[in-house]
Amino acid sequence: MGANREGRLSGAASQPKLRVRDATKVYNTRSGDLLAIDSCSLDIRAGEIVSIVGPSGCGKTTLLWSMSGLHKLTSGQVLLDGAPVDGPSPEIGMVFQDANLLPWRNLDANINFPFEIKGTKPDRAWIDDLLQRVGLGGFGGRFPRELSGGMQQRAALVRALSFKPSVLLMDEPFGALDAFTREEMNQMVEEIWLDTRTTIVLITHSIEEAIFLSDRIVVMSARPGRVASIHEVPFPRPRSLEIMATREVFDLTNTIKMEIIGEQQSRYARPSIAQPAQPSV
Ligand code: ADP
Ligand code: MG
Repeated sequence: MGANREGRLSGAASQPKLRVRDATKVYNTRSGDLLAIDSCSLDIRAGEIVSIVGPSGCGKTTLLWSMSGLHKLTSGQVLLDGAPVDGPSPEIGMVFQDANLLPWRNLDANINFPFEIKGTKPDRAWIDDLLQRVGLGGFGGRFPRELSGGMQQRAALVRALSFKPSVLLMDEPFGALDAFTREEMNQMVEEIWLDTRTTIVLITHSIEEAIFLSDRIVVMSARPGRVASIHEVPFPRPRSLEIMATREVFDLTNTIKMEIIGEQQSRYARPSIAQPAQPSV
């Protein structure tokens, strides 16, 4: 699985893998313009796992979709290996909170679907390896309704990694799962990451999940979302459940929790509607 590793790590010293520069997004809604994120800047290094946490509605998904090229920024820029991201790219894989598997296709056919659309051939050996890794070996003929929520999310993860993206973006991928399944998923993601060193950006509501998986945790302010603070997560890998029970993790969890609560409380003190442009005289 380490075939792409050299390519991914070369250049790591020279420039960030993913760069968000002054990202601003205004949604034009019926009730007026809504400033979702405001001048967000963030550099993600190659091979890093970065989590984004923050109050609900602060613009995390908006920021992640901008990183993926799925929607356009009002101003600012996202750069992948120094080149602007202007649309979806096979270099960037996405996992959402819902697995979004097509119910009428079995697991194999779901994973093949994006390749059919693009008219390219999937690397079956790679996909079979991934399926084995996530415990779905032999499940290719099953339909989504025959799979648990956790299995569906694992399938979505395999689908996202099937293109061998160098960046994986995940938007609350395990938010709907029970705590135990979630811990299993976190360990599985770390194992895959230890092999592939795929650059990962993860949005999560769980600070424990963020600490378990991340090299750095970005706390976003209440809307309009900005980068409020960034925390290094210094614990060695692989991260064990013993590490998660230490005083250091407890303290970091509380620090981040208090920051988010502070942001939540300040939400109503901030303007949420973009200021209309002043008419020039
Ligand atoms: P988060 O993921 O942090 O909960 P989002 O990025 O989903 O936040 O949303 C940020 C703000 O932008 C919210 O107020 C949300 O209602 C608004 N928003 C998100 N998507 C759209 C859209 N497509 N059109 C209008 N408003 C949107
Ligand atoms: Mg969201």
